[in-house]
Amino acid sequence: MVTSKERDQQDPLAEFKQEFFVEKDTVYMDGNSLGLMSRRAEAKLQALMDSWKTFGIDGWTEGEHPWFTLAETMSARVAPLVGARAHEVMVTGSITSNIHQMLSTVFQPTKERYAIVVDNLNFPSDIYAVESHLRLRGLDPAEAMRKVGSKDGYTLLLDDIIEQLEDDVAVLLLPSVLYRSGQLLPIREITQAAHQKGILVGFDLAHSIGAMPHELHDAGVDFAVWCHYKYMNSGPGGTGGLYLHERHHQLLPGNAGWFGSDKNRQFDMDHEFSKAQGAGAYQIGTPHIFSMAPLLGSLELFEEAGIQAVRQKSLELTSLLRQLVGQKIPELVDVTPINDEARGGHIAFSHPEAARICKALKEAKIVPDFRAPNIIRLAPIAFYTSFSDVEQVAEKLQSIMKNETYKNFSNERNVVA
Ligand SMILES: *Cc1c(COP(=O)(O)O)cnc(C)c1O
Repeated sequence: MVTSKERDQQDPLAEFKQEFFVEKDTVYMDGNSLGLMSRRAEAKLQALMDSWKTFGIDGWTEGEHPWFTLAETMSARVAPLVGARAHEVMVTGSITSNIHQMLSTVFQPTKERYAIVVDNLNFPSDIYAVESHLRLRGLDPAEAMRKVGSKDGYTLLLDDIIEQLEDDVAVLLLPSVLYRSGQLLPIREITQAAHQKGILVGFDLAHSIGAMPHELHDAGVDFAVWCHYKYMNSGPGGTGGLYLHERHHQLLPGNAGWFGSDKNRQFDMDHEFSKAQGAGAYQIGTPHIFSMAPLLGSLELFEEAGIQAVRQKSLELTSLLRQLVGQKIPELVDVTPINDEARGGHIAFSHPEAARICKALKEAKIVPDFRAPNIIRLAPIAFYTSFSDVEQVAEKLQSIMKNETYKNFSNERNVVA
């Protein structure tokens, strides 16, 4: 059998670990919540701060990364990661604000078609956005927001999604990868099924961008939103992104602002809005330059490694993790789908003592991710996790469970994790 050490030696991505600030003797398994800082990200943030120091106002047009077109130039480099054309993607906003922007733009409720379908397992912010958006349109979320249910509490079935696609539904909004169980939904099939019924489809890529390749354009997805601070390692509050299929680019932004203007006309300061041609139209105000800067460094790493290689290693790491945990600690219930095509970049284990187990892991220098009430998420990030690291996680977890050291920790919840 090939040992983890040997796998590390043959790993084409092994050298990327030294690009990241990984705390000594620590295994960081929480990159699906907040990715670690890379040296490139730090350097780009410093470079952008220097451009402010050096150029003052002229930084908008001077230097290596002029701020006025920074979002546009970065977006063209993010586009391949989501399988979109350059003009279909914009680095802007946050997941939640981009859901509002996309709904305000594409959702055009009529008497016959006015409902939005979401799912029972989605991240709360997405639900709050949809509910409040429906209210703004004079609709009652209790009637106009439909939820796909889950039979097992962890995953969704394609048939249950399709069942919700009734004639009065206008938009379907789902995550690509479910944030708790890590289930990857069949984006192409869902999009096809919805389009057959005349329903627009949006995906939240929070837990898939940077973990796997996408093909949004070819799959015909209407819109998508995501953040860059999880698998994309852009730092806390790093600016997010949106995608709008080019077939919708004639639509005026539901929430317009001057950064959605045609770049050649923006400084005419005309009160008549001249919409940018592509996804740039859905920007609102001045870009958050320092919250975008780290992504510039991070993108270099993705371009050098290639997203296919990242996905390949991620699948191997998560397979090893669930295999070792399954052997050593059978009392942890693996709730992530089995097939590679149906899972993202983390493995979720359920256990009634999950909160205390996570605290014990942290004390043992393994950084996990707890999701109330009973889920331990472990994300071995391809860029900075080795096969030996995964083995170490399983061994420490086994010792915590065997010696019941988790019982030394309180069950109280911290604000984060
Ligand atoms: C992380 C995450 C969010 C967070 O939204 P922000 O607006 O970036 O704070 C929203 N939805 C999902 C599914 C997430 O995983």
